[in-house]
Amino acid sequence: MAGPVPNARSRRIEESATLAITARAAAMKRRGLDVVSLGAGEPDFPTPGPIAAAGIRAIEQGKTRYTAAAGLPELRTAGADWLRATFGLDHGPAEVMVCAGAKAALHMALDATVEPGDRVLILAPYWVSYPALVTMADGVPVVVPPVPERGFVHDADTIAAAARQHGARGLILNYPNNPSGAVPTRAQLQAIVDAARAHDLWLLSDEIYGSLLYDGAEHVSPATLPGGRERTMVVSGFTKSHTMTGWRTSFLAAPQAVIDACSRIQSQVLGNPCTISQEAMLEACRTPLPAEHAARMQAFGERRAFLLEALAGVPGLALEPPRGAFYALVDARELGRRRGLDDVAMAEQLLERHLLAVVPGSAFAIPGFLRLSYAVSMPELQQAVTRLRDFAEAR
Ligand code: PMP
Ligand code: GLU
Repeated sequence: MAGPVPNARSRRIEESATLAITARAAAMKRRGLDVVSLGAGEPDFPTPGPIAAAGIRAIEQGKTRYTAAAGLPELRTAGADWLRATFGLDHGPAEVMVCAGAKAALHMALDATVEPGDRVLILAPYWVSYPALVTMADGVPVVVPPVPERGFVHDADTIAAAARQHGARGLILNYPNNPSGAVPTRAQLQAIVDAARAHDLWLLSDEIYGSLLYDGAEHVSPATLPGGRERTMVVSGFTKSHTMTGWRTSFLAAPQAVIDACSRIQSQVLGNPCTISQEAMLEACRTPLPAEHAARMQAFGERRAFLLEALAGVPGLALEPPRGAFYALVDARELGRRRGLDDVAMAEQLLERHLLAVVPGSAFAIPGFLRLSYAVSMPELQQAVTRLRDFAEAR
């Protein structure tokens, strides 16, 4: 008798490149190697005290049972209020649901809206999981090539042309962008929304880095722009801003029919997001922590400034200032040319010979680049730059 075998769809799904590199770096560390990992983007700060305490309180008070599939009603209300206060979204509690992480929210949204064979536009460089998530929803990812010469913000006409050429039904947006740190201006984003409207595209807007901004950059959600609300599904939450990475929480805000569909799916595949985590998220919604946020942004800002200055002195590397998130997408094309290596081989040598984990740009459809996460301590970042310089200057 034959045992179960992975089906064709699952065989098309590759492991998340960011998580794979991070796991490899962790395994090397366990073997006693002094690896510095700028792989996965996970802030080095702890979850803020009041939020962690709310989780502990939830366990102590026995709030450990199932909740409604779409999340605790009071959390959906608090989430709608938080999204309004923080990003100006105008969604009621019935248009907001709780998901188990931004990944799960993206998955739910795609699962509920993509018809088999639908073309979905993904703007490169893109966060590694989008193509796989579209494929899992039986859609077809269509990658729009990167535009480093435009600060990584695509022109609306380019998006419109891709929509026409491929007969696309949807477009995934991610600003502030992982990996480039790009943040469009309001006018650029409005032009993209207008193009989506003209070509009847839905938008899936991953705004998980929406409050991590530098140099006066402004985060605008397409759902707040004219013509945007009715076609946009917004993914947001506290994963990155509040280091709630392991709690697995997020919000999905979208037209109610989509939220109802996602909620039905969630009721079948998950039941509900972790109750304890929802209680912690409720605290995060109700109690803003401006001093804590300012301290984090100051630390990220210092690390970003350090990288910008330090990398300017490394031959063959170039870095444009990221405007949001906590990644440096380093242009290593010149170094690669000089050394006869592509980005994957460079990342490989950096890890094996210099004990520095970075993610090759190819994982984000931007070959020749390397992504460095600066959500690590300053001493680690200093070590990382020394190792990068050693690599760049090695014969
Ligand atoms: N979207 C982007 C752009 C990300 O970088 C990440 C990183 N984890 C996620 C979604 C997933 O976040 P979560 O941990 O909340 O699932
Ligand atoms: N989003 C982070 C990153 O891009 C974490 C890893 C992941 O979830 O893939 O590194």
